[in-house]
Amino acid sequence: VPKDFSQFDAVLLDLDGTVYFEDDPLPGARDLIGRLQREKIKFACISNSTSSPQRVVKRFAGMGISVLAEQIYTAGAAAVDFVVQKFPRAGGPRAFNLATQGVQDMLEGRGVWVEKDSEDCDAIIVGAPANRFADFDRQRIALSLLRKGALAVGICADRIYPSPRGWEFGSGALTLMLTYAANVEPVYCGKPEKMFFAELCRRLGARPERCVLVGDNLESDIWGAKRMGMRTILTLTGVARREDLEKVGEDHQPDEIIMDLRALL
Ligand SMILES: [Mg+2]
Repeated sequence: VPKDFSQFDAVLLDLDGTVYFEDDPLPGARDLIGRLQREKIKFACISNSTSSPQRVVKRFAGMGISVLAEQIYTAGAAAVDFVVQKFPRAGGPRAFNLATQGVQDMLEGRGVWVEKDSEDCDAIIVGAPANRFADFDRQRIALSLLRKGALAVGICADRIYPSPRGWEFGSGALTLMLTYAANVEPVYCGKPEKMFFAELCRRLGARPERCVLVGDNLESDIWGAKRMGMRTILTLTGVARREDLEKVGEDHQPDEIIMDLRALL
């Protein structure tokens, strides 16, 4: 397990299940982030969250951890970036928000929100259904807009995510439901998409093959980073268990396995 991070261009830390769970930091997280900051090692906290980096900063603050918004990249931010770049029209893209307040905040001043199915729409940004921006009325508007040619932009392809109530339907589940109904193909923006890691590396000024990723998910973290040529470390504090490694192929095997982030201190 690498303990000297100066050999890397950047360290990528997954958030849920790696750095924190709900509102609590996982063992070693606070010390590892503190150490990267002290040693001035470039790092980024990454998440398939539909929220904005600014909201993640607040969540970190609640745990007594200080991280800058520029050091956080969420799938929600990646989706907004993608839509802005994909539709470079004057005034920005015309988009329908079927996601979150975070997405609403991030497109502010960079695009135009569509609210009715009678309006012209370039893209629907789709998040998880347990959100007021994705209620049934808005799902119906989104379906109508998709049938008229708007692009379905899924924040990420996650099927489910854990919450205090149990498993919730993920962004991928709602995206698939809508695109199946509209008979169109979606684009996904979060991990493990190459688009996500490539844009992150561009922002960091880091070469992918000189990055190391620490994550808890064999598909979205390990496989996603591995196919970019990154070094990968699996932590067992989240979704993946040691026995899961026997069920996946070589392309999903991490370079190292740790019990928690204290192994990197
Ligand atoms: Mg995770």
